[in-house]
Amino acid sequence: MSAAEVTSLAKSISEPITLTKNGYADLVVMSVETYKKQTAKDQLHNTLLERELDLQANSITYELSEIICNKYGKKTEVIYEGNHPVNLDYQSYANFSEEFGYASCFDGCKVSFDLCEDCFQVLLKTFVHPAKIEEFMS
Ligand SMILES: [Zn+2]
Repeated sequence: MSAAEVTSLAKSISEPITLTKNGYADLVVMSVETYKKQTAKDQLHNTLLERELDLQANSITYELSEIICNKYGKKTEVIYEGNHPVNLDYQSYANFSEEFGYASCFDGCKVSFDLCEDCFQVLLKTFVHPAKIEEFMS
C-alpha cells in the first residue's frame, strides 16, 4: 500500500490504522480529525478516571453520621471509616428491626427504630416478664 493510499484510507475510515512490520505493530496513522477526536476521548477518559480515584479516596476518609433515639430524640455522632464505625458511642444504642407478616396489624411491613440506653432501660422495666439478659463478652 502506498503512502497516498494509506492517507486516503485514514481519512475515509476516521479510525487509527496500525501499520505492521514483520508482523508487529510499527506505526499508527490517522487523520488530523481522528487524532483530535481521539485526544478529546482520552481527555474525557482521564477526567472520569480522576473523579473515580477521588471517590475512592473519599471512601477512606472519615464520615460523620448520627444515631437518634426514636423515643426522645437523643443524638450521638458516629464516625465512620469507610463502612466501619470507629467510635464506640453508638454501641450504647439498641437497634430494633422486625418484619411483620400480612396477618399482623403491620401487614407485611418492616418496622425499625433505635433506642438510647436510657430509653431501653425504661422499656425493659415495663415488661411483666423480665427480658433475658446474658453476658456475651468474656
Ligand atoms: Zn432515648
